[in-house]
Amino acid sequence: MSTFVPAARVDQMRESPSVAAAQRVRELRASGREILDLTVGEPDFDTPDHIKAAAVVAMDSGLTKYTPVNGIPALREAISKRMLDRTGVEFADNEITVGGGAKQVIFLALMATVEEGTEVIVPAPYWVSYPDMVTVHGGTPVVVDCPESDRFLLTAEKLAAAITPATKWVILNAPSNPTGAVYSERELAELATVLDRNPHVNVLCDEIYDEIVFTDAPVPNLLSTAPHLRDRILVTNGVSKAYAMTGWRLGYGVGNKGLIAAINKLQSQSSSCPSSISQAAAAEALTGDQSFVTTSVASYRARRDVIFELFSRIDGLEPVLPQGAFYLFVGCSGLVGKRTPDGTLLENDQDVVLFLLDHASVATIQGSAYGAQSYFRVSFATSEDVLRNAAAAVEKAVASLS
Ligand code: PMP
Repeated sequence: MSTFVPAARVDQMRESPSVAAAQRVRELRASGREILDLTVGEPDFDTPDHIKAAAVVAMDSGLTKYTPVNGIPALREAISKRMLDRTGVEFADNEITVGGGAKQVIFLALMATVEEGTEVIVPAPYWVSYPDMVTVHGGTPVVVDCPESDRFLLTAEKLAAAITPATKWVILNAPSNPTGAVYSERELAELATVLDRNPHVNVLCDEIYDEIVFTDAPVPNLLSTAPHLRDRILVTNGVSKAYAMTGWRLGYGVGNKGLIAAINKLQSQSSSCPSSISQAAAAEALTGDQSFVTTSVASYRARRDVIFELFSRIDGLEPVLPQGAFYLFVGCSGLVGKRTPDGTLLENDQDVVLFLLDHASVATIQGSAYGAQSYFRVSFATSEDVLRNAAAAVEKAVASLS
């Protein structure tokens, strides 16, 4: 028997449900099953060649050592320029950090600020990692239910009601994983009014999907809407999604210099810095040819339209049209309460997801993993063929329910 006992705070942590779902697909495939995998949270495209070439140049020219903790100057300059272009707000060098993915930047930002008694407002549906990243540091995630009737977004009233003297952060993620919802400028302005009244509350804006949008105009952001709040806003972003670079592990955070310094201190004692080679590649991604973003977003948009249309036709399913990211959130309350051909009752979204896996060989992720019951998430970062086959298999399986 192992004598190794994890710390209680780690013991309480759930494994990421999306990582677990991907593992389940791998196991089923290894056992010989053909699975149509709609769980994947990453682009199916390869990293563009000019970005790979920049990595090769970096390696050949000796950029293979530790870098400054907060990243190479060329990358920080690229981030600063991008933030200025997108938000109109200028950020100094000491207000920018880079890390091993946006995930790590968010983790360190919370580690730097959350302790026993700290409350963090997490609107649901939420990205699966936020609550666990709060609890592991002793804090309390205050989950605020944001129903479909509010487009799954946090309203000013709900924000105001959730704030207590212990609130340190509210996390806003738009375009959202899992719903693809985005805030309008008016909605952001209303949230800003509540924040004006509560100067102890900071905002973590997770903008990892901000390039992947299907609206004609760029999606609004809190910094542009309320630049006077700049010292209380941490924007996190990265190159994973927009440039198909999930494996390069490179993200960044921009905000208050005191917070950035604390994140850098933690980084100096943990990873030291993200990969030097990935940093050079990310600088090229942000400053080089942007045509990949345009063509990949056009492709995601076409796929969104296909899967939305096909799922809309299936009795009992109610997909919600996403404005960004590459996920379709599908209401499945119409299937809950039905019975499978072998007589099993579908009691909740988890049962629906298992039914689709068993009877349609289609892998999805239950909404309850995102804090929203009676939905499931479908990723459309996969080929139209897979999407069409998956929709046909789901339609057939659903028709067998009684
Ligand atoms: N935020 C959200 C909402 C995400 O979906 C992801 C990736 N699944 C991340 C952050 C992290 O991205 P990365 O660490 O690859 O930069």
